[in-house]
Amino acid sequence: MAGGQEQAAGPAGAVRLVLATHNQHKVRELRAILDGKVPGLGPDGIVGAGELGATEPVEDGLTFAENALIKARALAAFSGLPAVADDSGLCVDVLGGAPGIFSARWAGRHGDDAANLALLLAQLADVAPEHRGARFTCAAALVTPDGYEHVETGHLIGSLAIAPRGTNGFGYDPVLVPDGDVRTCAELTPHEKNAISHRGQAFRALAPAIVAVLSGQVPAAG
Ligand code: IMP
Repeated sequence: MAGGQEQAAGPAGAVRLVLATHNQHKVRELRAILDGKVPGLGPDGIVGAGELGATEPVEDGLTFAENALIKARALAAFSGLPAVADDSGLCVDVLGGAPGIFSARWAGRHGDDAANLALLLAQLADVAPEHRGARFTCAAALVTPDGYEHVETGHLIGSLAIAPRGTNGFGYDPVLVPDGDVRTCAELTPHEKNAISHRGQAFRALAPAIVAVLSGQVPAAG
């Protein structure tokens, strides 16, 4: 823990918030959402866990919120700083909310997006369009080293296409058509997707709690 604290406050100096991700896109998204909201907090004040050399804990929670909290708690303990983590996935109505927390490994191997997508489409092959409702869900958690915890959740609601379309994005983007659109998420520009995404909603909902913590307005948990 002391090592983590030295790393966090060391070379970067002004690091005040850590995000549990190795994905720079997520770091940039959180920086943009918090931009101008905390006095003295610049882009360099927010870094990804990878930049601190933090290891990833086992995500053995049973909900998105539990997994986000597991990641944020581990990172707050490692870094000695307030930590944010998110956990997300695709929830399909007719599958009772699956793949859910198993979205990244639905076909058996973690992160095999093509296999996950192919298996899901095969499972739903005979399901009519009106029964293909689904949503992306994201839980975002803030945890401080003092033990303050706050979780917010965001959803991107839509329905599943019969076949993949589009080349943008990742994961299940080629099959989720957001309500009110005819394009899949993989046919949206990154800007269009970010504006409506489950992750953006969860991060934006969490922003006031982050601002309060970084402004010293949240008392230490007793
Ligand atoms: P993570 O929480 O970012 O690691 O995402 C877990 C898994 O959920 C990913 O591997 C994807 O399969 C799926 N997923 C989460 N968010 C999205 C999204 O915005 N588009 C497509 N797939 C997503």
